[in-house]
Amino acid sequence: MSSQKTKNTNAPTIGRTLPELRAATGQLRQDPQVTLALVPTMGALHAGHIELVKHAHTVATHVAVSIFVNPTQFAPTEDLGTYPRTEAADLEILKAEGVNLVWVPGTDTMYPTGFSSAVQPAKAAESLETDHRPHFFQGVTTVVAKLFNQVRPDAALFGEKDYQQLCVIRAMVRDLDFGIDIVGVPTVRENDGLALSSRNAYLTTEERQAAPSLHEALQTLSKSIAVGTPIEEAKANAKALVLERGFRNIDYIEVRDAETLSPYEPRSDRPGRILAAAWLGNTRLIDNIPL
Ligand code: AMP
Repeated sequence: MSSQKTKNTNAPTIGRTLPELRAATGQLRQDPQVTLALVPTMGALHAGHIELVKHAHTVATHVAVSIFVNPTQFAPTEDLGTYPRTEAADLEILKAEGVNLVWVPGTDTMYPTGFSSAVQPAKAAESLETDHRPHFFQGVTTVVAKLFNQVRPDAALFGEKDYQQLCVIRAMVRDLDFGIDIVGVPTVRENDGLALSSRNAYLTTEERQAAPSLHEALQTLSKSIAVGTPIEEAKANAKALVLERGFRNIDYIEVRDAETLSPYEPRSDRPGRILAAAWLGNTRLIDNIPL
């Protein structure tokens, strides 16, 4: 059904207020055959986001994309003020991709005066990102829960690029009975292996050349564990490689259970995941690959 649908060539409906959003989703839902997939983003769209949108068309008859730079997932010292905002270009991309609905709420709509609720993130949020960005996941779970309640999609798509986030959202949807299919989409990379990210725009020419070594180090780490190198030794080698290539600091390079994100047991037959975050100059890059 969804694979045979004709591509929407009309400009997407743009909602900026809750009444506008409700009018648009209400109209779509008049047809009981309609299914809706949501792709939440912070804008500054690149080929990674576009891959999510293309995948969304294969899981539902209609696609909605949200664009909201969520202030509650940034610490005061982080890059909320300088985060790239490219709405006009984003809307052109979404039109070309046949998106039906774009939800662009203002901060006042998401966090009106008096807003004080929050969604407690699941156990998967412990350690890794949370050790370095303690505010982050509660900001994400709360805003994603709001987006789900606002748009009421049948499915939502998230990139494996933010692997811990994907695990935390899956747990939230399961634990709180959202009844939404969460679909993970593999990371889209540059030819040299660098994972696409809106933050790559911050890199200087020199840093951009060094950036793929994070992915390279994760691949080397995976291979050396596969041939029996003890995990601690393999991790130390990966960290040394990244620092040698010009990264300033490593927040973590860890090997975890791919589902629970608890420490990986080498002798278990469960899938593993290697996750990393490291600083190149003033830019924090994250990446992960399957073990
Ligand atoms: P962001 O706009 O950075 O919040 O990302 C919005 C969505 O796009 C998240 O689900 C990300 O995981 C996903 N995403 C970002 N970069 C990539 C990438 N390189 N490949 C696949 N998905 C991505």
